[in-house]
Amino acid sequence: MRWVVELEGQPEDEIESADPIAMVAGNLRDRGLIGPDVQIRTREEDSGLILPISTNLQTKRITFSRDMRALCEDELRFCILHENAHIQLSRRFSIFVCLAILLWIVALILLLRGDAFSVLGAIPMLFLGRMVYGSATYRFELKADYRAGHLMKSEFHVMHPSMVAKSALSHVRELKSDKRSRAEKFLRIIGYKHPKDEVRVTGIAARLDGDVCAVGTTATDSGGQRIGE
Ligand SMILES: [Zn+2]
Repeated sequence: MRWVVELEGQPEDEIESADPIAMVAGNLRDRGLIGPDVQIRTREEDSGLILPISTNLQTKRITFSRDMRALCEDELRFCILHENAHIQLSRRFSIFVCLAILLWIVALILLLRGDAFSVLGAIPMLFLGRMVYGSATYRFELKADYRAGHLMKSEFHVMHPSMVAKSALSHVRELKSDKRSRAEKFLRIIGYKHPKDEVRVTGIAARLDGDVCAVGTTATDSGGQRIGE
């Protein structure tokens, strides 16, 4: 495995300055929009990389596949700001995860007791834990979208952030492997819920674009790369 871009903890001359991801990330860092402790890396080889972007909330590391370089500046900005928002929101997100785990532990204790009354009590606990976790994963995705869209508008004067989001999400969807990692399969079993792209775009449009409906359009706002449906 070879990392071609490492903005954090590497000498300046080891960064490929022509790499669009490095340039966009460097600009966001200079403007104070991503924390100095957030690492952004591009992985040259795709082996084992199922998602074109992945973020480790513990290590605060955002990893891009090399194919993400095909995105235009605004799309990359949106993706980085979205992942950065997940890192910023990770403490609040972990409260819901802990609550879900607590409910599952109670369910497990009840199941281990084995009597009919306890087993009956465990079932709603299992579902409640799943519901708490699913609703947190769903809502925090929309929160991260809002934060990213808001910064696109306030800092980069993008009038309709939903259009940038739509084209970025469409690109990410194209690059995403059909395979599901074991971790992803497990997360779905325990209730992980991800809003559909249309819901995300509509959400950003409703909150940030004013009365403009972005769904069904294909252009980006600020002269960036246009992509089709
Ligand atoms: Zn996300």
